[in-house]
Amino acid sequence: MMPSGPIELSRNQAFINGVWCGADDGASFAVLNPATGEQLAALLTLEQGKPLAESRVEIAYAASFLEWYGEEGKRVYGDVIPPHRADNRIVVSKQPVGVCAGITPWNFPSAMVTRKAAPALGAGCTMVLKPAEQTPLSALAIAALGEAAGLPPGVLSIVTTDAAGAPAIGAELTSNPTVRKLGFTGSTVVGKLLMAQCAANVQKVTLELGGNAPFIVMDDADLDAAIAGALVCKYRNTGQTCISANRIMVQDGVFDAFVERFTAGAKALTVGLGTETASMLGPLIDDQGLDKVEAHVADAIAKGATLHTGGARHALGQTFYQPTVLTGIAPEMAICNEETIGPVAGIMHFNNEEEVLRMANDTPYGLVAYFYSRDVGRIWRLSEGLEYGMIGINTGMISTEVAPFGGIKESGIGRYGSHQGIDEYLEAKYMCMGGIDA
Ligand code: NAP
Repeated sequence: MMPSGPIELSRNQAFINGVWCGADDGASFAVLNPATGEQLAALLTLEQGKPLAESRVEIAYAASFLEWYGEEGKRVYGDVIPPHRADNRIVVSKQPVGVCAGITPWNFPSAMVTRKAAPALGAGCTMVLKPAEQTPLSALAIAALGEAAGLPPGVLSIVTTDAAGAPAIGAELTSNPTVRKLGFTGSTVVGKLLMAQCAANVQKVTLELGGNAPFIVMDDADLDAAIAGALVCKYRNTGQTCISANRIMVQDGVFDAFVERFTAGAKALTVGLGTETASMLGPLIDDQGLDKVEAHVADAIAKGATLHTGGARHALGQTFYQPTVLTGIAPEMAICNEETIGPVAGIMHFNNEEEVLRMANDTPYGLVAYFYSRDVGRIWRLSEGLEYGMIGINTGMISTEVAPFGGIKESGIGRYGSHQGIDEYLEAKYMCMGGIDA
């Protein structure tokens, strides 16, 4: 039962086995507001920087996983299988895998926590979770809510650290034999490292890693819808999502019109503090994020790209960057091969379906692809030909707790969301009973 008084959500200590505690050696680290550089003690918009309206959407999305897996736990069904011998009976039950670890990134400080913890707890597992250095406060607030709701001690623990401490915690979570599973969301490079560490104990993994999403606009697309979808898909969360459009590919027949109108849309976006209601884009998460965006833009321009708008830091200072549009993007540019994780749209053109499929699949990543078309045959051909775990067809928004979210190739293993999400935290146990006819 929830307590009647207010719940203290602003926490600055780890939550381990039901106890709020500091580091043994008294160490601490600062959590900075990327918009102002101050210390702070508040939640999502303040620690991550995204506009308040987006934070509200994320909180609802985060809560949706708790509701979904609270229900899904009731449907962890097993099987009764017709046996291979008359004197046998075969039953398969599902059991929780046990103690699970979670490691989450900074771009969705609440939703990435519940996307892991909710299916784990719904399946009957416990979880020790390490949030990102930049955004531990939202994870601690979720733990405070769990505590207030009566979660038994140790069911959900949150271990916080700065980046320097992350490898040691990762090493413990992947080598301690008590931990049977790791759920990780973050970069492909760290995901590969953790997967290798998990191999020593054959620890299970679910990995949600980086993407390099193509966003394809065919000649027959509804251009208004494609432009609106591309703007949201590119600039939501200031371009800092794993499913942000990274390579926008537009067919020759609509290329000029698309670039002109998309650029006008990008120019109209309001950049500002996440706490101001007019803001549509907040700051980048930190200086490294800003450095990467600047490097991608400089590299593209040096290799021949054309700048249509933006291309520089925003007058607001700190880590604010202008919404940027580039054309003439080519395969040798960094922007074409790595996630920019920022508000930079790189637009390429193509001539036909075969060519765009080849371009879109020319990456080791396979998280999400988007395309706009109104031709039914083309919709099926592209959907089946794109080597991605998720496909957005005539939409730039695909995230929901009811669908399986995840990637193929170097974008990950396993799925979160839908009924598939809970299977990630369950073991199938086969029981063969003999001697029935004796
Ligand atoms: P990151 O550097 O891989 O960090 C992610 C998490 O891993 C953080 O908690 C980080 O801790 C931790 N970490 C880093 N090195 C570690 C180590 N050696 N051992 C254990 N933990 C370690 O990723 P990021 O740059 O913060 O996040 C952005 C990335 O996440 C992008 O690639 C984005 O596409 C991806 N992402 C993917 C999805 C998806 O669903 N596929 C969703 C969201 C984001 P510290 O913060 O303390 O360093």
